[in-house]
Amino acid sequence: MNIAVVGGGLAGLAVALGCEQDGHDVSLFEASDALGGRMKTLHVNGHPLDAGFHVLHTAYPSLARWMDVGALGGKPMDACTMTIQPSTGKRRVLGDALHAPRYLFPTLRSVGVRDGLRFLRWRLGTSGRDLERSMDAPTPTIKQGLKQRNFSASTRRVLEPLFAGITLDPSLSERMAFANFAWGAMSHGEMIVPYGGIAAVPNQLASRLKTTTVHLNTRVENVTATTVDANGETMPFDRVVLAVPQHVAQEVFSPLDGTHKPVERLTSTVAFVTKTPPYSEGRLLLNEEWGQHGNDVLHVHLPTNVHPHPAGEHWVVATLVGAPATSPDVESVRHELRKWFGESVSNWKHLATTTVRYALPHIDPTHHERFMSEIEIEGVLLAGDHRAHPSVQGTLRSAERILEHLKIPIPKEV
Ligand SMILES: Cc1cc2nc3c(=O)[nH]c(=O)nc-3n(C[C@H](O)[C@H](O)[C@H](O)COP(=O)(O)OP(=O)(O)OC[C@H]3O[C@@H](n4cnc5c(N)ncnc54)[C@H](O)[C@@H]3O)c2cc1C
Repeated sequence: MNIAVVGGGLAGLAVALGCEQDGHDVSLFEASDALGGRMKTLHVNGHPLDAGFHVLHTAYPSLARWMDVGALGGKPMDACTMTIQPSTGKRRVLGDALHAPRYLFPTLRSVGVRDGLRFLRWRLGTSGRDLERSMDAPTPTIKQGLKQRNFSASTRRVLEPLFAGITLDPSLSERMAFANFAWGAMSHGEMIVPYGGIAAVPNQLASRLKTTTVHLNTRVENVTATTVDANGETMPFDRVVLAVPQHVAQEVFSPLDGTHKPVERLTSTVAFVTKTPPYSEGRLLLNEEWGQHGNDVLHVHLPTNVHPHPAGEHWVVATLVGAPATSPDVESVRHELRKWFGESVSNWKHLATTTVRYALPHIDPTHHERFMSEIEIEGVLLAGDHRAHPSVQGTLRSAERILEHLKIPIPKEV
């Protein structure tokens, strides 16, 4: 078959790879000048800087089918999160004691025995073998779900920013089922940062493409079951796979326009260079007062604590989500971080600012199946995270579903 794949992010790359390995002629259309989509890494001062905080969960079941994870040279983040109350300077540590027993007592000191047991019950309720199981039942929103799990208000001050960061949604309106999935992924594997940054993941798939014709800088304007319109030309194909982000899919394929109207999720990072890092571990520092007046920074991480900079630079990256991420102001972020780390922040040099618009899809909160049911609408095949759930696992599963639908085998494990 002559197959068009529109969109060169992770979903499009996986579909293209599966199709070409099954002997089909594949044309891959990508609007930008590079493959990889939202898994994007900049190179600043000779070191990778991801556009948005992004980790790879080794527990994702699809990962082993598509990736040589070992070849990514990934290093794990700490099996713990640290929190700060900027107004008091108080910090807490919440760790996964089953992963790393050294975090048992610090975690119990942070959340108390009752919430410690609630964490344990939640963890034991997730299935390492079927992480996506939780998606199959109707659930409340994350905001409501955390309350229903009876976590104290003090522990919710940690969990709410944590899940706002995972879903890039300050209102926590995503399904609790997704939080359960994410909790399971964190519990049953590691969160690794690839050596070359998160773009190393799609780059590995792209490097395996042999016969696919890749058209970069080619924005597709419209698709039907058998045609692709780009650069003023209508090109015929046997099958068309649309693997673009949610908001673009609605623009280029009119039958999607009348479906669920998504809310944009966006995130920005403001990165600084400092001579002395404020902490030395590869972990997040979450803001317990996030969302209160003057507390726009959701969390901070130091990528150079995971993969050291070759020239010894130390990078501090502050993450914002929602409205404050629209046009981040370096000096406002610096002002805020002075409350976290003291006056030395005044001497930090601004390194880079990144903003990702439409960073994650907004899935209809009433949806309660692990995958969106429509894989084919009016003959067009639909892939990408918006067809499943907003994660690398959801993205790869959406590609696998397209291949299964076309009776094309998923490429052999690498
Ligand atoms: C900041 C950030 C952090 C994240 N963190 C995590 C995480 O820690 N763990 C996790 O599991 N997931 C995470 N994700 C989610 C994960 O990265 C995405 O779900 C996944 O990359 C989506 O891949 P995709 O192929 O569906 O879409 P995309 O990557 O968006 O790919 C779509 C491609 O289509 C192209 N395109 C758009 N319009 C057109 C057009 N008209 N014609 C042709 N091409 C077009 C785009 O340029 C893009 O390359 C994160 C995402 C972001 C943005």
